[in-house]
Amino acid sequence: MEYKGLYEWGVEKLKASGIEEAALDARLLLEECCGTDRNHLLVHGRELVTEEQHKHYVNWIEKRGRHVPLQHILGYQEFMGLRFGVDGSVLIPRQDTETLVEEVLRSLHDGMSILDMCTGSGCILLSLLRYSNDCTGVGCDISEKAIETARTNAVSLGLEAQFLQSDLFENVSGKYEIIVSNPPYIPSGEIPGLMEEVRDFDPLTALDGGEDGLFFYREIIPKAGEYLHPGGMLFLEIGCEQAADVKGLMKQAGYKDILVCEDFTGRDRVVSGRFGG
Ligand code: GLN
Repeated sequence: MEYKGLYEWGVEKLKASGIEEAALDARLLLEECCGTDRNHLLVHGRELVTEEQHKHYVNWIEKRGRHVPLQHILGYQEFMGLRFGVDGSVLIPRQDTETLVEEVLRSLHDGMSILDMCTGSGCILLSLLRYSNDCTGVGCDISEKAIETARTNAVSLGLEAQFLQSDLFENVSGKYEIIVSNPPYIPSGEIPGLMEEVRDFDPLTALDGGEDGLFFYREIIPKAGEYLHPGGMLFLEIGCEQAADVKGLMKQAGYKDILVCEDFTGRDRVVSGRFGG
């Protein structure tokens, strides 16, 4: 079959399955299958694909048609310009979370120590280490499988970090200049209404923030101070309606200079504060 014909078949299949970005996903999957890039469709659309590539593509389109996330099929997601391996054990890195990383980077100086609580794929910690000098980092997660994925990502990015299985601060020791976290924050009752790709394929433990979505903020905020050097900073990603509550929890726990920051769509996304000092 011709490359372009196969692409068009893929687009139609995905459209019929209700995939929003059918054309984009069909093209990206075909490019991954054939080791091609965007130009190929424009310039070499009449070229024949091998039988093997054809079979492979049909299989991937069927998967995507069942709403398996594109990133689980490709096996990676780009985040902060870096490629992170992902699988069903970790939340797929979101563009929203780049706002969190960028906020931390504004306060991160050479040689600082960072703790990433609920690290998942490791995308936050590893990006911070990649875009700073001589910083050290520990990432923890309750999921042993997530820790394995994060470790693999560190190796493939050529970065050094320590990843630790821990139920929140349970196995954490020492003090840090920066604590950062994108904890689960979706209210339990909203989970059934999420997109299939998120609801059925992101790990539930990475999404579910308890009845009001604030469970992990109530756990992390009061305890983080024990693990921060005086003047150390806590950075939290939040759901866009949680700023007031999370600010309140930070104030109650004695944080100063509390700031709320918006993501690129103008929604509240990050709350930060300074501990003592
Ligand atoms: N922002 C993610 C979503 O929309 C949720 C991530 C989280 O709970 N930390 O699915």
